[in-house]
Amino acid sequence: MAEDEPPGASLKPLVFRVDETTPEVVQSVLLERGWSKFDQHERNVEDWNLYWRTSSFRMAEHANVKPWQCLNHHPGTTRLTRKDLLARHLQHMGRLYGTPLYAFLPPTFVMPSDYSKFVAEYFKEKQALDAKLSYWICKPAELSRGRGIIIFSDIKNLIFADTCIIQKYICNPLLVGRYKCDLRVYVCVTGFKPLTIYIYQEGLVRFATEKFDLGDLENSYAHLTNSSINRSGASYEKIKEVVGSGCKWTLSRFFSYLRSWDVDDLLLWQKINHVVILTVLAIAPSVPFAANCFELFGFDILIDDNLKPWLLEVNYSPGLSLECSADVSVKRRLIHDTIELIHLHSLRNERKESCGAANGSPGVSLAGKDRGQGSDLPYESFSQLRCRRGFSKDETPVQKAVTTCPENRHTCQPQEALSRQKEVHPSTREPPKAKPKARARHPALKTLIPCVSLIQPRGREKGLSPHVQPDSSWVPGPQAGNFVLIFPFNEATFGASRNGLNVRRIIQELQKLTHKQCSQVAEKKIKRK
Ligand code: ADP
Repeated sequence: MAEDEPPGASLKPLVFRVDETTPEVVQSVLLERGWSKFDQHERNVEDWNLYWRTSSFRMAEHANVKPWQCLNHHPGTTRLTRKDLLARHLQHMGRLYGTPLYAFLPPTFVMPSDYSKFVAEYFKEKQALDAKLSYWICKPAELSRGRGIIIFSDIKNLIFADTCIIQKYICNPLLVGRYKCDLRVYVCVTGFKPLTIYIYQEGLVRFATEKFDLGDLENSYAHLTNSSINRSGASYEKIKEVVGSGCKWTLSRFFSYLRSWDVDDLLLWQKINHVVILTVLAIAPSVPFAANCFELFGFDILIDDNLKPWLLEVNYSPGLSLECSADVSVKRRLIHDTIELIHLHSLRNERKESCGAANGSPGVSLAGKDRGQGSDLPYESFSQLRCRRGFSKDETPVQKAVTTCPENRHTCQPQEALSRQKEVHPSTREPPKAKPKARARHPALKTLIPCVSLIQPRGREKGLSPHVQPDSSWVPGPQAGNFVLIFPFNEATFGASRNGLNVRRIIQELQKLTHKQCSQVAEKKIKRK
């Protein structure tokens, strides 16, 4: 316990609130970590620290959130997660900053408003392809799990009722064995103002369970990779060529597989990182400010046989049910790491704000207010409860972020206070006694991921993002478990995202980074020859 911590503060259990839609794994992980479940009959109505549910919160709920509370949704994020809105935002960005930059979204038409544009494009392509077929997919804007999807090459087969999108069907997917797959990449935005994006360095790969065949567009088991569909297919249990039984791999297994084919998995991962940043940037300026909330997104990315990542959609409240061993190993850790990340984030905000206050900044931190009222408040702010540590005034915000990372400061382990109250579940991570090794708590990730191939011994300092090959002036970003900061990714983007978002400047930096990464890859290739 830090010296300035009031006695008993660290002994207060954190309290989580749920509703009937909260995934089971979230509850079990929080209980494992020593949290208590909110019970309205036993507790004061405001006596909770985290409210996690599947649906969004009303603006009034955001406005009334207390300094010690955190919500698992940010307002305004459905701009990304509704297929039609996603298309509109990305198309708008393409018009502003150059269509090639946003060419990771397959050409998309929002129905019914874009119907005539689609028809014109359909016939243009038909003519260009001569006798060859062109392929399209029609997806309801608001449905998920593959419901209502049709794939067609003849416009006569197009039927749609409600709002939907028609998208170019990617007909050259990268196949494993002979099966189509796509990646579920988890992304946590801990704030839009300033924009802060983390990517999870583990994830899932979802397979179709029947062989890919453009000759049979009606076979959902061959063309759709949704596990809700494939689990009920006749081939789900069968041992399939390369894929094996079931319909999911972990991302680390997929990347190992790619490496075995000599694929530059690092370059692919970097491209995916860029897709994520560019996508979130499309809505960031228009998202309303809200404190104490975060959003965990599921990005669905399809890789084609040229190793180009295509964004298929962004999921709100990505599925967290545990249906197979890959789910268990990925999703449990994902929730552990999400909790760790939001704790860290609130801690950094609090430090930043308290340092701001110390430096005479007019802004008063929420956490500061909370602390200011001292013992009058029933609880401390989310992060205060867990760990306190002073910063040197000389530290930059990024350095502060790095020094508060639990990989660097094992005093910040979230189990500290709670392990005294409850017997800790065997799978719960204990506070390391010695300095922890990077990712040592996730042995499965040793095979992962591009970062391993990128980060060579010298670069494997704590908190170094695999996405960023930093300039010498850049202090590596923070990491929480397997979450790695991908935005901001250097000091320029840090600056361009603080007082308002300078999207143009950020995009310039991203283009510079892409250029640098491409030259590094080219150099590597030449050296190998
Ligand atoms: P849903 O929200 O219903 O899951 P998705 O957009 O994720 O909708 O599409 C479901 C599945 O359909 C994807 O997982 C993928 O396998 C396939 N799919 C979607 N869009 C495309 C596309 N443009 N090209 C190829 N396959 C696609």
